[in-house]
Amino acid sequence: MTGVSILGATGSIGVNTLDVIAGHPARFRVVALTAYSDVDGLAAQCIRHRPELAVMVDAEAASKLRNRLRQAGVETEVASGPEALETAASLPGADTVMAAIVGAAGLLPTLAAVRAGRRVLLANKEALVMAGPLFMAEVTRSGAQLLPIDSEHNAILQCLPHDYAGDLDAAGVRRLILTASGGPLRTLPAEAMAAVTPEQACAHPTWNMGRKISVDSATMMNKGLEVIEACRLFSASPDRVDVVVHPQSLVHSMVEYVDGSVLVHMGHPDMRTPIAHALAWPERIESGAPAFDVTCCPPLAFEQPDPQRFPCLALALQALRAGGGAPAVLNAANEVAVEAFLGGRLRFDVIAPLIEQTLAELPAPEAVTLEDVIALDAQARRVAGELSGRFQQ
Ligand code: NAD
Ligand code: MG
Repeated sequence: MTGVSILGATGSIGVNTLDVIAGHPARFRVVALTAYSDVDGLAAQCIRHRPELAVMVDAEAASKLRNRLRQAGVETEVASGPEALETAASLPGADTVMAAIVGAAGLLPTLAAVRAGRRVLLANKEALVMAGPLFMAEVTRSGAQLLPIDSEHNAILQCLPHDYAGDLDAAGVRRLILTASGGPLRTLPAEAMAAVTPEQACAHPTWNMGRKISVDSATMMNKGLEVIEACRLFSASPDRVDVVVHPQSLVHSMVEYVDGSVLVHMGHPDMRTPIAHALAWPERIESGAPAFDVTCCPPLAFEQPDPQRFPCLALALQALRAGGGAPAVLNAANEVAVEAFLGGRLRFDVIAPLIEQTLAELPAPEAVTLEDVIALDAQARRVAGELSGRFQQ
């Protein structure tokens, strides 16, 4: 039995993970579940899966959960506070940890799982964007097994040789090609971007995801973060990673080899597929995703992203090339901007200018240690918060 701890259990990835696990009761056992404050969601999951530990970051929510579970006769221990997330990430029985907290809040718990040398299923791309080199150094040091859940990176992992050891040239790879759906605003005229509402931005045409990543998909910052993620995961330089827009979201990414072969990973846009792949790796298990009928497949289109309409993609590449702490600044500014947009305090079309100005105020700062990264994240949030006042509606 593999013990699984799920950080961010009540979110879109968390729920999909529990769905896959529920299909394999003899193979997986849930040992810990965490959430921010969704008492109803976490209580139902605890009653169903009986973990040893449940963590609610919010203390009031934790005490409600404790009462709820006591009434239901469930013996799960309930803890609260951000430190308890790290306990859940490194619990002795947690062989596999699903890192599915959204945003920078996931960095320390994800690193705790890495440092404990577990199999880490990485959905929380922001942690890797913020702390890339030091995150990967911890993976090497601890011997943790890092498997990407992001559909593109999971697809690339599947298209690379099994023994890929971080050298694209040695593996005969010319480039990694990330596909992007283009999000819900792909064909919206640039002048209409100012009036985009959170509901429009979150209405993704092919994927059903949490609100933050949905906005990132609408700005295409998500693809920018994913280029950085790909460079870190596969030791690729930025010029070896390309992005193509593929609105059908059936090709999840590709690897082009020097002999002209292009290996393509296809499937329904269903996160249970990469989740099942990483949970069982190197074996294969049923994910619950429907079978894929190629004869019913719509025509597949591939096109270049439009840099005018989606400036966030270029900003991410700029931060990647600047190096040092620039990706952490980019990520923090983006989180501030997206939160302000979702809260109705910032127009959609000024998300990119806000990030650009934050990067200009904090150009490529050093960020060597974890403390540097955390301090820089806080500083970039302050700068972006001040700047957002100027862009306010
Ligand atoms: P979501 O908003 O649906 O869920 C987020 C989870 O994190 C919830 O359980 C929530 O309680 C918890 N959380 C939120 N803030 C927290 C905090 N401050 N401290 C502790 N826990 C907190 O998000 P999601 O769509 O499931 O995405 C999770 C991560 O996976 C993100 O990093 C996202 O980029 C990545 N990802 C998601 C998808 C997808 O299909 N949803 C695909 C690829 C990658
Ligand atoms: Mg993705």
